[in-house]
Amino acid sequence: MHSTALTPAVVPIMVSLKPATWPDLQPLAIESHWLRSAAMAPAHRLLVVYPHPDDETFSSGGTIARYSLGGVEVHYVCATRGECGTIEPRLRGEESAADLRTAELVCAAQTLGLTAIHFLGYRDSGMPGAVDAQHPDAFVAAPMERVTGQLVALIRAIRPQVVITFGPYGDYGHPDHIHIHETTRAAFTAAGNPEYSPRCAPAGLTPWAAAKLYYKTFDARPVRLAVTLLRLFGRDPRRFGENGDVDLLAVATQVTPPTCTIDVGPWLAVKDRAFWCHRTQLGSLARLQRLPRRLRRPFVAAESYTRAVPPVAPDDPRERDLFHGLALAPIPVGIIDQGGGCSAELV
Ligand SMILES: [Zn+2]
Repeated sequence: MHSTALTPAVVPIMVSLKPATWPDLQPLAIESHWLRSAAMAPAHRLLVVYPHPDDETFSSGGTIARYSLGGVEVHYVCATRGECGTIEPRLRGEESAADLRTAELVCAAQTLGLTAIHFLGYRDSGMPGAVDAQHPDAFVAAPMERVTGQLVALIRAIRPQVVITFGPYGDYGHPDHIHIHETTRAAFTAAGNPEYSPRCAPAGLTPWAAAKLYYKTFDARPVRLAVTLLRLFGRDPRRFGENGDVDLLAVATQVTPPTCTIDVGPWLAVKDRAFWCHRTQLGSLARLQRLPRRLRRPFVAAESYTRAVPPVAPDDPRERDLFHGLALAPIPVGIIDQGGGCSAELV
């Protein structure tokens, strides 16, 4: 005979990863997924802002891995769920593209060590001319003021010193990439302005001026070489890519110059694992990704950025660290008052 009194009850312990001071951003239609507990007062925080699940890995995977595994709290703002990504039927199954790609992003985020993903709630707009841009929830159709307000609330809630987004041409001209550039640029300035108050933001969300803004970029020389070679072989560089919708000439001429190069060589294995999380989006990249790492290393062991704020002087040396020059002091917690809210529709 046994006594149930001696058997310890199995009670699941639910640990909330969301910080106690995190404000209610649901009135702003922001949905946050917490993947690890945020530090109480980390010395450094990094905010990465792109529009699609996979941009974080394909554009900045090594950078995110390097900083998050080095103790920096890294957050990812993702404007859409990547609804327009091409998915091979054999990989699709019953799930929608949005559900598949959200799961892929969570896999990559856990691999890279992200603290949280914050979705802005829009729909992928597709490449220029796509009918998806006409959808009422398309990110490109979202008013500048609305997106800027969401991003200001997130910058004030997260309090990063450094913000990363795409440059003015959005890497390769994707309309969502250009829209995230314009809205992040505006929010970066507005977040520190006490006169600016986003509609529907919680009361007491205090202004926060991040110290640095960077645009993701790359060395334009191989792209210029590709333009020349394509013309030599009678191909049109303005209709490049698997779908012929990338204007390589515009890419080569509008890319911003690298001013900060991050060595991500020691974190390539982590970045590779995050790449494979996005298996529906690899396309021809999968073949390159299968090459031995030592062959790929010269092309993928560094990630480059252009510092937009503060501006770079002509004789400034190239930075090797996004946090270069920033003090290693704990970031104070903002004064959060959970009042406010929004009774009307956020428009
Ligand atoms: Zn993208």
